[in-house]
Amino acid sequence: MIQLSVPLNFIGFVYREIRQGLTDIEAMFDLLGVRQEVTDRPGAPDLVVHEGAIRFEDVRFGYDPDRQILKGVSFEVPAGKSVAIVGPSGAGKSTISRLLFRFYDIQGGRITIDGQDIAAVTQESVRKVIGIVPQDTVLFNDTIAYNIAYGRPGASEDEVRRAAELAQIAGFIEKLPDGFRTMVGERGLKLSGGEKQRVAIARTILKAPPILVLDEATSALDTHTEQGIQAALDLVSKNRTTLTIAHRLSTIVGADEIIVLKAGEIVERGGHEALLRQGGLYAEMWRMQRAATEAEEALRRAREED
Ligand code: ATP
Repeated sequence: MIQLSVPLNFIGFVYREIRQGLTDIEAMFDLLGVRQEVTDRPGAPDLVVHEGAIRFEDVRFGYDPDRQILKGVSFEVPAGKSVAIVGPSGAGKSTISRLLFRFYDIQGGRITIDGQDIAAVTQESVRKVIGIVPQDTVLFNDTIAYNIAYGRPGASEDEVRRAAELAQIAGFIEKLPDGFRTMVGERGLKLSGGEKQRVAIARTILKAPPILVLDEATSALDTHTEQGIQAALDLVSKNRTTLTIAHRLSTIVGADEIIVLKAGEIVERGGHEALLRQGGLYAEMWRMQRAATEAEEALRRAREED
Protein backbone atom coordinates (compact mmCIF):
# COMPACT_ATOMS: atom_id res chain seq x y z
CA MET A 1 0.00 0.00 0.00
CA ILE A 2 2.70 2.37 1.08
CA GLN A 3 4.79 1.34 -1.86
CA LEU A 4 1.94 2.20 -4.17
CA SER A 5 0.87 5.48 -2.65
CA VAL A 6 4.19 7.19 -3.19
CA PRO A 7 4.36 6.70 -6.94
CA LEU A 8 0.66 7.47 -7.24
CA ASN A 9 1.09 10.73 -5.41
CA PHE A 10 4.07 11.50 -7.52
CA ILE A 11 2.20 10.66 -10.68
CA GLY A 12 -0.64 12.86 -9.47
CA PHE A 13 1.79 15.71 -8.95
CA VAL A 14 3.46 15.23 -12.31
CA TYR A 15 0.09 14.87 -14.01
CA ARG A 16 -1.12 18.09 -12.46
CA GLU A 17 2.02 19.92 -13.54
CA ILE A 18 1.86 18.52 -17.06
CA ARG A 19 -1.85 19.09 -17.29
CA GLN A 20 -1.43 22.69 -16.23
CA GLY A 21 1.33 23.32 -18.74
CA LEU A 22 -0.35 21.51 -21.57
CA THR A 23 -3.79 22.84 -21.01
CA ASP A 24 -2.46 26.35 -20.96
CA ILE A 25 -0.72 25.94 -24.28
CA GLU A 26 -3.60 23.98 -25.77
CA ALA A 27 -6.09 26.51 -24.54
CA MET A 28 -4.05 29.24 -26.14
CA PHE A 29 -3.84 27.39 -29.42
CA ASP A 30 -7.48 26.48 -29.33
CA LEU A 31 -8.59 29.98 -28.77
CA LEU A 32 -6.28 31.42 -31.33
CA GLY A 33 -6.79 28.48 -33.68
CA VAL A 34 -3.11 28.07 -34.44
CA ARG A 35 -0.15 25.75 -34.04
CA GLN A 36 3.24 26.79 -32.80
CA GLU A 37 5.66 27.32 -35.67
CA VAL A 38 8.38 29.64 -34.45
CA THR A 39 11.53 29.00 -32.46
CA ASP A 40 13.72 31.34 -30.43
CA ARG A 41 16.99 32.51 -31.88
CA PRO A 42 20.00 31.00 -30.06
CA GLY A 43 20.80 33.12 -27.03
CA ALA A 44 17.74 35.35 -27.50
CA PRO A 45 17.32 37.64 -24.50
CA ASP A 46 14.07 38.13 -22.62
CA LEU A 47 11.80 41.02 -23.45
CA VAL A 48 12.11 43.81 -20.90
CA VAL A 49 8.89 45.73 -20.47
CA HIS A 50 8.76 49.14 -18.86
CA GLU A 51 5.51 50.51 -20.22
CA GLY A 52 4.13 48.04 -22.74
CA ALA A 53 3.89 50.18 -25.87
CA ILE A 54 3.08 48.15 -29.01
CA ARG A 55 4.13 49.05 -32.55
CA PHE A 56 3.32 47.32 -35.84
CA GLU A 57 5.56 48.72 -38.59
CA ASP A 58 4.59 47.83 -42.15
CA VAL A 59 3.76 44.27 -41.11
CA ARG A 60 3.35 41.79 -43.96
CA PHE A 61 2.17 38.29 -43.33
CA GLY A 62 0.47 35.29 -44.94
CA TYR A 63 -0.18 31.80 -43.58
CA ASP A 64 0.70 30.51 -47.05
CA PRO A 65 3.38 32.13 -49.22
CA ASP A 66 0.96 32.67 -52.09
CA ARG A 67 -1.76 34.41 -50.08
CA GLN A 68 -0.93 37.58 -48.22
CA ILE A 69 -3.26 38.25 -45.29
CA LEU A 70 -1.71 41.44 -43.86
CA LYS A 71 -0.44 43.78 -46.55
CA GLY A 72 1.71 46.34 -44.76
CA VAL A 73 -0.09 47.15 -41.53
CA SER A 74 1.24 49.97 -39.31
CA PHE A 75 -0.24 51.17 -36.06
CA GLU A 76 0.73 51.94 -32.52
CA VAL A 77 -0.82 51.29 -29.15
CA PRO A 78 0.87 53.80 -26.86
CA ALA A 79 1.49 52.64 -23.29
CA GLY A 80 -1.72 52.61 -21.27
CA LYS A 81 -3.92 53.40 -24.28
CA SER A 82 -6.54 51.30 -26.02
CA VAL A 83 -6.80 50.50 -29.70
CA ALA A 84 -9.59 48.49 -31.27
CA ILE A 85 -9.38 46.60 -34.54
CA VAL A 86 -12.63 46.25 -36.45
CA GLY A 87 -13.49 45.14 -39.95
CA PRO A 88 -15.36 42.58 -42.00
CA SER A 89 -14.96 38.87 -41.38
CA GLY A 90 -11.66 37.53 -42.70
CA ALA A 91 -10.01 40.98 -42.76
CA GLY A 92 -7.12 39.73 -40.60
CA LYS A 93 -8.12 41.04 -37.16
CA SER A 94 -7.40 37.88 -35.17
CA THR A 95 -4.22 37.38 -37.20
CA ILE A 96 -2.92 40.62 -35.67
CA SER A 97 -3.38 39.23 -32.15
CA ARG A 98 -1.72 35.93 -33.14
CA LEU A 99 1.28 37.84 -34.48
CA LEU A 100 1.55 39.88 -31.31
CA PHE A 101 1.88 36.60 -29.40
CA ARG A 102 4.43 35.58 -32.02
CA PHE A 103 2.65 32.40 -32.96
CA TYR A 104 4.08 33.04 -36.42
CA ASP A 105 7.03 34.98 -37.73
CA ILE A 106 6.16 37.78 -40.10
CA GLN A 107 7.46 38.07 -43.64
CA GLY A 108 8.05 41.81 -43.66
CA GLY A 109 8.15 44.75 -41.28
CA ARG A 110 8.56 44.70 -37.51
CA ILE A 111 6.49 44.25 -34.38
CA THR A 112 7.94 45.83 -31.28
CA ILE A 113 7.04 46.05 -27.62
CA ASP A 114 8.76 48.94 -25.86
CA GLY A 115 11.07 49.24 -28.85
CA GLN A 116 12.25 45.60 -28.80
CA ASP A 117 11.56 43.46 -31.86
CA ILE A 118 9.47 40.52 -30.62
CA ALA A 119 11.20 38.23 -33.14
CA ALA A 120 14.54 38.84 -31.38
CA VAL A 121 13.49 38.00 -27.81
CA THR A 122 12.20 34.77 -26.23
CA GLN A 123 8.61 33.86 -27.01
CA GLU A 124 8.00 32.97 -23.40
CA SER A 125 8.92 36.46 -22.23
CA VAL A 126 6.58 37.98 -24.83
CA ARG A 127 3.63 35.83 -23.79
CA LYS A 128 4.29 36.49 -20.12
CA VAL A 129 3.55 40.21 -20.44
CA ILE A 130 0.35 39.76 -22.41
CA GLY A 131 -2.92 38.84 -20.78
CA ILE A 132 -5.72 37.60 -22.95
CA VAL A 133 -9.42 37.54 -22.32
CA PRO A 134 -10.40 35.09 -25.01
CA GLN A 135 -13.62 34.42 -26.85
CA ASP A 136 -14.06 31.14 -25.08
CA THR A 137 -12.30 30.35 -21.84
CA VAL A 138 -11.15 26.84 -21.08
CA LEU A 139 -12.10 25.74 -17.57
CA PHE A 140 -10.22 23.03 -15.73
CA ASN A 141 -12.02 20.24 -13.89
CA ASP A 142 -11.22 21.79 -10.56
CA THR A 143 -12.68 24.32 -8.13
CA ILE A 144 -13.70 27.74 -9.32
CA ALA A 145 -11.06 29.18 -6.96
CA TYR A 146 -8.38 27.11 -8.74
CA ASN A 147 -9.67 28.28 -12.08
CA ILE A 148 -9.34 31.91 -11.05
CA ALA A 149 -6.02 31.52 -9.23
CA TYR A 150 -4.65 30.02 -12.42
CA GLY A 151 -3.95 33.60 -13.50
CA ARG A 152 -1.29 33.75 -10.79
CA PRO A 153 -0.46 30.42 -9.17
CA GLY A 154 0.10 30.97 -5.47
CA ALA A 155 -2.48 33.75 -5.15
CA SER A 156 -4.12 33.83 -1.72
CA GLU A 157 -7.82 33.18 -1.10
CA ASP A 158 -8.34 36.86 -0.43
CA GLU A 159 -6.69 37.83 -3.70
CA VAL A 160 -8.87 35.34 -5.59
CA ARG A 161 -12.00 36.72 -3.92
CA ARG A 162 -11.01 40.30 -4.68
CA ALA A 163 -10.34 39.45 -8.35
CA ALA A 164 -13.74 37.75 -8.54
CA GLU A 165 -15.37 40.85 -7.08
CA LEU A 166 -13.70 43.11 -9.62
CA ALA A 167 -14.72 40.77 -12.43
CA GLN A 168 -18.28 40.91 -11.09
CA ILE A 169 -18.60 37.20 -10.55
CA ALA A 170 -18.18 36.96 -6.76
CA GLY A 171 -21.94 37.29 -6.13
CA PHE A 172 -22.64 34.41 -8.48
CA ILE A 173 -19.96 32.22 -6.89
CA GLU A 174 -21.12 32.86 -3.35
CA LYS A 175 -24.57 31.57 -4.24
CA LEU A 176 -23.16 28.23 -5.47
CA PRO A 177 -23.54 25.27 -3.08
CA ASP A 178 -19.84 25.12 -2.23
CA GLY A 179 -18.98 28.72 -3.02
CA PHE A 180 -15.43 29.13 -4.26
CA ARG A 181 -14.86 25.39 -3.75
CA THR A 182 -17.52 24.41 -6.26
CA MET A 183 -16.16 22.09 -8.93
CA VAL A 184 -16.50 23.43 -12.45
CA GLY A 185 -15.47 22.29 -15.92
CA GLU A 186 -16.59 19.35 -18.03
CA ARG A 187 -17.10 17.12 -15.00
CA GLY A 188 -18.42 19.82 -12.71
CA LEU A 189 -20.77 22.74 -12.92
CA LYS A 190 -21.02 24.11 -16.43
CA LEU A 191 -20.79 27.86 -16.67
CA SER A 192 -22.44 30.04 -19.28
CA GLY A 193 -20.38 31.93 -21.87
CA GLY A 194 -20.69 35.15 -19.89
CA GLU A 195 -19.70 33.49 -16.60
CA LYS A 196 -16.69 31.85 -18.22
CA GLN A 197 -15.64 35.16 -19.64
CA ARG A 198 -15.80 36.70 -16.19
CA VAL A 199 -13.60 33.90 -14.83
CA ALA A 200 -11.13 34.84 -17.58
CA ILE A 201 -11.34 38.48 -16.52
CA ALA A 202 -10.71 37.51 -12.87
CA ARG A 203 -7.68 35.47 -13.97
CA THR A 204 -6.36 38.42 -15.91
CA ILE A 205 -6.90 40.75 -12.96
CA LEU A 206 -4.72 38.42 -10.89
CA LYS A 207 -2.07 38.13 -13.59
CA ALA A 208 -2.00 41.93 -13.93
CA PRO A 209 -0.17 41.94 -17.27
CA PRO A 210 1.11 45.23 -18.72
CA ILE A 211 -0.55 44.39 -22.07
CA LEU A 212 -4.05 43.14 -22.58
CA VAL A 213 -5.60 41.53 -25.64
CA LEU A 214 -9.36 41.32 -25.65
CA ASP A 215 -10.66 38.93 -28.23
CA GLU A 216 -14.30 39.67 -28.18
CA ALA A 217 -16.90 36.95 -28.35
CA THR A 218 -18.63 36.70 -31.69
CA SER A 219 -21.63 35.11 -30.09
CA ALA A 220 -24.09 37.65 -28.78
CA LEU A 221 -24.50 37.84 -25.04
CA ASP A 222 -27.69 39.26 -23.63
CA THR A 223 -27.56 42.99 -23.04
CA HIS A 224 -27.49 42.72 -19.25
CA THR A 225 -24.61 40.20 -19.25
CA GLU A 226 -22.79 42.24 -21.84
CA GLN A 227 -23.03 45.38 -19.75
CA GLY A 228 -21.69 43.54 -16.69
CA ILE A 229 -18.78 42.16 -18.66
CA GLN A 230 -18.10 45.48 -20.28
CA ALA A 231 -17.85 47.16 -16.89
CA ALA A 232 -15.41 44.48 -15.72
CA LEU A 233 -13.38 44.79 -18.90
CA ASP A 234 -13.23 48.57 -18.63
CA LEU A 235 -11.87 48.14 -15.16
CA VAL A 236 -9.20 45.61 -16.08
CA SER A 237 -8.06 47.57 -19.13
CA LYS A 238 -7.85 50.91 -17.35
CA ASN A 239 -4.35 52.40 -17.73
CA ARG A 240 -3.20 49.22 -19.42
CA THR A 241 -2.08 48.93 -23.04
CA THR A 242 -5.10 47.25 -24.59
CA LEU A 243 -5.68 45.82 -28.04
CA THR A 244 -9.27 44.79 -28.67
CA ILE A 245 -10.31 42.56 -31.52
CA ALA A 246 -13.88 43.75 -31.78
CA HIS A 247 -16.95 42.27 -33.36
CA ARG A 248 -19.54 44.40 -31.60
CA LEU A 249 -18.87 48.05 -32.27
CA SER A 250 -20.87 49.19 -29.23
CA THR A 251 -18.11 47.97 -26.93
CA ILE A 252 -15.31 50.02 -28.45
CA VAL A 253 -16.88 53.46 -28.74
CA GLY A 254 -14.48 54.75 -26.06
CA ALA A 255 -11.26 53.35 -27.59
CA ASP A 256 -8.44 55.87 -28.04
CA GLU A 257 -8.14 54.77 -31.65
CA ILE A 258 -10.23 52.52 -33.86
CA ILE A 259 -8.52 50.83 -36.77
CA VAL A 260 -10.67 49.62 -39.63
CA LEU A 261 -9.11 46.69 -41.43
CA LYS A 262 -10.33 45.42 -44.76
CA ALA A 263 -8.71 42.56 -46.69
CA GLY A 264 -5.45 43.00 -44.76
CA GLU A 265 -5.14 46.76 -45.13
CA ILE A 266 -6.02 49.64 -42.85
CA VAL A 267 -8.68 51.60 -44.68
CA GLU A 268 -9.77 54.02 -41.93
CA ARG A 269 -8.57 55.04 -38.49
CA GLY A 270 -9.57 57.48 -35.79
CA GLY A 271 -12.01 58.00 -32.92
CA HIS A 272 -15.61 56.79 -33.05
CA GLU A 273 -17.19 60.20 -33.74
CA ALA A 274 -14.66 61.16 -36.40
CA LEU A 275 -15.13 57.82 -38.16
CA LEU A 276 -18.89 58.25 -38.14
CA ARG A 277 -18.52 61.72 -39.66
CA GLN A 278 -16.26 60.29 -42.33
CA GLY A 279 -19.20 58.24 -43.61
CA GLY A 280 -17.06 55.32 -44.81
CA LEU A 281 -16.86 51.62 -43.96
CA TYR A 282 -16.98 52.16 -40.19
CA ALA A 283 -20.08 54.36 -40.45
CA GLU A 284 -21.69 51.71 -42.63
CA MET A 285 -20.82 48.90 -40.19
CA TRP A 286 -22.18 51.00 -37.33
CA ARG A 287 -25.43 51.66 -39.17
CA MET A 288 -25.88 47.98 -39.97
CA GLN A 289 -25.15 46.88 -36.44
CA ARG A 290 -27.57 49.44 -35.03
CA ALA A 291 -30.28 48.19 -37.37
CA ALA A 292 -29.59 44.58 -36.35
CA THR A 293 -29.72 45.43 -32.63
CA GLU A 294 -32.96 47.36 -33.05
CA ALA A 295 -34.51 44.47 -34.97
CA GLU A 296 -33.44 42.03 -32.23
CA GLU A 297 -34.91 44.26 -29.53
CA ALA A 298 -38.19 44.66 -31.43
CA LEU A 299 -38.37 40.87 -31.74
CA ARG A 300 -37.69 40.41 -28.04
CA ARG A 301 -40.38 42.95 -27.11
CA ALA A 302 -42.86 41.26 -29.41
CA ARG A 303 -42.09 37.90 -27.76
CA GLU A 304 -42.52 39.39 -24.29
CA GLU A 305 -45.90 40.83 -25.25
CA ASP A 306 -47.12 37.41 -26.44
P1 ATP B 1 -13.45 37.16 -38.15
O1 ATP B 1 -14.05 38.51 -37.90
O2 ATP B 1 -14.33 36.33 -39.02
O3 ATP B 1 -12.99 36.46 -36.91
P2 ATP B 1 -10.72 38.05 -38.83
O4 ATP B 1 -10.70 39.41 -39.39
O5 ATP B 1 -10.33 37.89 -37.41
O6 ATP B 1 -12.15 37.39 -39.11
P3 ATP B 1 -8.53 36.23 -39.38
O7 ATP B 1 -8.93 35.15 -38.44
O8 ATP B 1 -7.40 37.08 -39.00
O9 ATP B 1 -9.78 37.15 -39.76
O10 ATP B 1 -8.25 35.54 -40.79
C1 ATP B 1 -7.81 36.28 -41.92
C2 ATP B 1 -7.65 35.32 -43.09
O11 ATP B 1 -6.64 34.37 -42.81
C3 ATP B 1 -8.90 34.53 -43.40
O12 ATP B 1 -9.09 34.52 -44.79
C4 ATP B 1 -8.60 33.14 -42.91
O13 ATP B 1 -9.21 32.17 -43.72
C5 ATP B 1 -7.10 33.05 -43.01
N1 ATP B 1 -6.56 32.20 -41.95
C6 ATP B 1 -6.77 32.34 -40.62
N2 ATP B 1 -6.10 31.41 -39.91
C7 ATP B 1 -5.45 30.65 -40.83
C8 ATP B 1 -4.57 29.52 -40.74
N3 ATP B 1 -4.23 29.00 -39.55
N4 ATP B 1 -4.10 29.01 -41.89
C9 ATP B 1 -4.43 29.53 -43.08
N5 ATP B 1 -5.23 30.60 -43.24
C10 ATP B 1 -5.74 31.15 -42.12
